[in-house]
Amino acid sequence: MSYTHAIQSKLASSGVTIFSVMSQLAQEVGAINLGQGFPDFNCAPELTDAVARAMREGHNQYAPMLGAYPLREALARKIELLYGRRYDPVTEICVTSGATEGLFSTLTALVRPGDEVLLFQPAYDSYAPAVQLSGGTPVYVTLRRPDYRVDWDEVRRAITPRTRVILLNSPHNPTGMVLDAGDMRELAGVLGQTDAVVVSDEVYEHIVFDGARHESVARYPEIAERAVVISSFGKTYHTTGWKIGYCAAPPALAAEVARVHQWVTYAVNTPIQRAYADMVSRDPGCEQVTSFYQAKRDLFLDLIKDSRFRPLASRGTFFQVVDYSAITDERDAEFAIRLTREHGVAAIPISPFLAGVDPGPVLRFCFAKRDETLAAAAERLRRV
Ligand code: PMP
Repeated sequence: MSYTHAIQSKLASSGVTIFSVMSQLAQEVGAINLGQGFPDFNCAPELTDAVARAMREGHNQYAPMLGAYPLREALARKIELLYGRRYDPVTEICVTSGATEGLFSTLTALVRPGDEVLLFQPAYDSYAPAVQLSGGTPVYVTLRRPDYRVDWDEVRRAITPRTRVILLNSPHNPTGMVLDAGDMRELAGVLGQTDAVVVSDEVYEHIVFDGARHESVARYPEIAERAVVISSFGKTYHTTGWKIGYCAAPPALAAEVARVHQWVTYAVNTPIQRAYADMVSRDPGCEQVTSFYQAKRDLFLDLIKDSRFRPLASRGTFFQVVDYSAITDERDAEFAIRLTREHGVAAIPISPFLAGVDPGPVLRFCFAKRDETLAAAAERLRRV
């Protein structure tokens, strides 16, 4: 007899992530995949060499629960150098299995049944399930086209005595919005009104364009003292498949994150942590990745300028949102599927990042692709 009748899903409302859906469709129909956010080029040979070296040197057993010490130390130095806050590598940094695990462990540690978590939508799709599994309720503040800037009055109205976490993401996936110093002043002001903890997803910290600076919450002592900063190596080093990230937070918060991390993952891949430690120490600023992706963005914009897709501003990340209202009045998911099947280019619709709000006629393209890939995709897009 089947036992399925006794299984009550704790995530009944969540389906397969849109990234898997679009990547699978792209593969089925042989489309160029500008959907899911991953590079189609390799990482630096020094990085794979460093991993191989660490393996040969015997760094192949469990790392410490909080992460390989050289990596935590390198991260502490990097964050201090770039953002001016010193995190203690012994008590304030925890290396996780990607930012995804960092987010999950943090939200699991902080959110209790009945708590509210303020999310900005469109929101990266792993946030809400992590909140819901802890019995929390996502409360959404919507970022609106064309700039997707935060409306801080709306934030102040959304805060209640139950608000436990305010979850930020800058540079922002999927919109490419980047928070500025004015936003951080507004956030600091909002914190006077609540005991909420700030969780700041900064995985695109090195991909901020046009000379703007990344406003890490680590730069702002009054925010950082009640914040968990989460980042990842996947975007910075073209290694999304390696799934290593980290959390940095004051000791009491970091200890709670680590308590959960201990039972979710315990410790992450040792030789890769050693290799990242070398890379982070050697070049903490990672300025090359900024100019590399700015050039990709500019190339992609140039390649599609004669198409009927109208670009919105991409100020950071490796994503470009485009308005397709000159082409069709189809809904975004419908059009994304037709674009993949009929025109051979996969994109990501924005609607799965929103709870019950219409995103309008926009799609997200990923430009973390070889120039040839972008050129081939753009040629198809110009014919749409
Ligand atoms: N947050 C955001 C905003 C992301 O775009 C991603 C990756 N797509 C993640 C978190 C997850 O990062 P990781 O692959 O390190 O788990």
